[in-house]
Amino acid sequence: MEWMFIEAYCAMFYGSSRSTKTELNPGGESAPTEIDLWLTRQTYEFATAHDTCTKCGAGFRRKVSLAAVFDVRDESVAPWRIGVDTRCRGWRRHRHSASVTESRGGLRFEPLRPG
Ligand SMILES: [Zn+2]
Repeated sequence: MEWMFIEAYCAMFYGSSRSTKTELNPGGESAPTEIDLWLTRQTYEFATAHDTCTKCGAGFRRKVSLAAVFDVRDESVAPWRIGVDTRCRGWRRHRHSASVTESRGGLRFEPLRPG
């Protein structure tokens, strides 16, 4: 997965992604922006369309669920994270999740892992 490409693509067209605060935390200085959420959704929907479950080998559902989380352990490193959840289409519907955090002005995407 070319995560660096997505970060570069965003910077090329949008500059800093820190301009628009999300409705999830409109008053907060440290919150994921609408662009952060959009990029996260696009990234993981692309990943789930081209990847398979690590437990059963089935494909994933197309839709992913996102949730902004503000109770991270170390706010100096990451004041927030975006939790990503999806399930495979196998009969056991294995849950996979990942986190997205801000890192040095960009987004850091973790790979989906079974949970
Ligand atoms: Zn599975």
